[in-house]
Amino acid sequence: MQRILVIGAGFAGLWSALAAARRLELEGKNGLIEVTLIAPDPILTLRPRLYEAAPGSMSAPLEKLFEETGIRYIQGSVETIRTEHDELDYIDANVSRRTLSYDRLIMAAGSKLFRPDIPGLREHAFSVDQLDEAAALEVHLQSLVLQPSSLKRNTVVVAGGGFTGLEIATELPTRLKGILGTNTEVKVIIVERADAIGPDLGSGPRPKIDEALTQLGIEYRLGSAVSSIEAGGLTTANGEHLETSTVIWTAGVRASELTSQISAERDPLGRLRVDQNLRVASSPKVFAAGDAAVAPTDDQGNHTLMSCQHAIPSGKSAGDNAAADLLGLLPTPYSQPQYVTCLDLGSAGAVVTQGWDRNIWMTGAEGKAFKVMINGTLIYPPTDRDTAFAAANPQQALSL
Ligand SMILES: Cc1cc2nc3c(=O)[nH]c(=O)nc-3n(C[C@H](O)[C@H](O)[C@H](O)COP(=O)(O)OP(=O)(O)OC[C@H]3O[C@@H](n4cnc5c(N)ncnc54)[C@H](O)[C@@H]3O)c2cc1C
Repeated sequence: MQRILVIGAGFAGLWSALAAARRLELEGKNGLIEVTLIAPDPILTLRPRLYEAAPGSMSAPLEKLFEETGIRYIQGSVETIRTEHDELDYIDANVSRRTLSYDRLIMAAGSKLFRPDIPGLREHAFSVDQLDEAAALEVHLQSLVLQPSSLKRNTVVVAGGGFTGLEIATELPTRLKGILGTNTEVKVIIVERADAIGPDLGSGPRPKIDEALTQLGIEYRLGSAVSSIEAGGLTTANGEHLETSTVIWTAGVRASELTSQISAERDPLGRLRVDQNLRVASSPKVFAAGDAAVAPTDDQGNHTLMSCQHAIPSGKSAGDNAAADLLGLLPTPYSQPQYVTCLDLGSAGAVVTQGWDRNIWMTGAEGKAFKVMINGTLIYPPTDRDTAFAAANPQQALSL
């Protein structure tokens, strides 16, 4: 039997597998070609929610959905990909090395937080990038109440003032007061290397972000790179020392290391360059989607970003096109001209922008309701086969 093999059970991997299974069923070929998904755990980690309280619960089970949609799930972690032989090696649940062949491969192994070689960063900094990391931060925050009150205990420094840094920083005042007591004076400081807050978000939403930071009493330092982190604080390249028991590192993400095993052009974030059909030009049996890929989103020169907004639709297109390719059918180009950002600002609401110029669309409570809908509903996986196959149609736009 032929096999479409998907690496990863994130947003891109899940929707690739569902779209491939849907397409095979539509063409009456689901008994002839197997869709297999390999990932360490049969869960979808809701990464966009990991800055929120109770991050340990931010995942959704997938086994039942895989069974209902005929997707074979293999528990394992891929170690080596040999595109010249159309096969890969993985470590299974019993820590044994196994080999699996494929007829089409979909690389959807996502991304991870990038930790540069800064003294003390690996030992002392927390993060909200992966489920276990966000859970460890939560345990640490809860344990602060056991320490006597001090400036060091009551201060959290967020390294990086980009999208993730802003979401965790603006969430923290309420979260910390919930743990340390409403009368405790908590301090949240963002340390950002660039000269502007939210450097990649552009100038559109900046006034609203500034307003929210002021309202929440969050301080920030611009043009200020972290040079070392110790157990009780952090020092910047400008020589400033900030006393804190909690540093949260948010600055920078890189595509999965697995992308380097596929001979193809990669961007500075390590993402595989794919064409409008999500195919890797130099490895025609390999498709890629989500954070592991960079694809054109329109004919205006825009490209996918590391976001769910792009991972879900690009995953659907990759899965559909991989199945079509194997069946000798024409691909349907991926196109996603609509672009929206929705930045949570904690108790100050949220700011939603439209278009690549990021023009403000919604703010405050209205923006927050939109964010709650995305985080609480839109990004969750479907629970039954019919809904899953209807939603896996790549022509169905992500309804933002
Ligand atoms: C705190 C935070 C807030 C965010 N907020 C937003 C937001 O507001 N809006 C938005 O659109 N995006 C947001 N994002 C980004 C978004 O979460 C990612 O873009 C998205 O998760 C990418 O999906 P993916 O499927 O490509 O990769 P991932 O979600 O990274 O999934 C990768 C999958 O591959 C698996 N895998 C990895 N290595 C291997 C291997 N060797 N073998 C087998 N399987 C492997 C993993 O276990 C996982 O199942 C946020 C991210 C974070 C961390």
